[in-house]
Amino acid sequence: MSRIAYVNGRYLPFADAKVHVEDRGYQFGDGVYEVCEVRAGRLIDERRHLERLKRSLGELRIRMPMSTRALGIVMRDVVARNRIGYGIVYLQITRGVARRDHAFPPPQTRPSVVVTARALNKARNEALAEQGISVVTVPDNRWGRVDIKTIGLLPNVLARQTALERGSRDAWFIDARGIVMEASSANVWIVTSTGTLITRHADNAILRGITRTVLIDAIKAEGLTVEERAFTLEEAYGAREAFITSASQIVVPVVRVDDRIIGDGKPGRVALALRRAYHRYAEAG
Ligand code: PLP
Repeated sequence: MSRIAYVNGRYLPFADAKVHVEDRGYQFGDGVYEVCEVRAGRLIDERRHLERLKRSLGELRIRMPMSTRALGIVMRDVVARNRIGYGIVYLQITRGVARRDHAFPPPQTRPSVVVTARALNKARNEALAEQGISVVTVPDNRWGRVDIKTIGLLPNVLARQTALERGSRDAWFIDARGIVMEASSANVWIVTSTGTLITRHADNAILRGITRTVLIDAIKAEGLTVEERAFTLEEAYGAREAFITSASQIVVPVVRVDDRIIGDGKPGRVALALRRAYHRYAEAG
């Protein structure tokens, strides 16, 4: 079965799913995106992802191409047409097609909309979580507005590649003061020796992950303590547990950071419990 993509109002086989060479996403990275998890064919946390999309567009002054309701329908259509049970749906909106010029195009320029969906291997993801991953650290060399989920991901691409070339799964961005910011496409958490969960506060310098937001609710409901604050790499090295969160992988334990083993080198109890509990707190649409 050929994969189907939604491109500017049409559902097309992948081979025909194309955007214009002067699309501002292609030329300038002038656009935003969202990724939702799909489970049993249903979108997880759809409302929250679309709210964040609206915010990202607003910050960049790109207009909403259609209502959030209509976007939700398109995403669910793409999931259904591709018969995705477990996987992800990807939505990208750019400032549209216009003659190449840095300044904004004329106001009537229509934003471009692309939606794709892809199956993920559930058994492989579960095995990864059972095993835990190792990460490397890299300097945070990104711009000052990574709270906006833009498609301009070059530092994230280079960080992930560095991780793979060093035999790790992912990279953590560390700022000039030694603070752990976030991973290349996930938020970072640690569990202290007293069992407190810590994740960096969300401001303009990290993405406020939807998984992070839902997990904070889950942690409180489970009677655990959570602190949203800066923590250093030194603190992470000494943590009992570490893990990362994102919509595509939910909770993934981190067992090694650079050449330092975290805790006993095995996925932490808290991380695995939260991974199992997550969908009790998420919204399934
Ligand atoms: N931080 C970055 C840089 C990301 O790219 C992502 C997800 O892609 C996240 C955090 C996690 O966000 P979410 O939980 O909404 O997937």
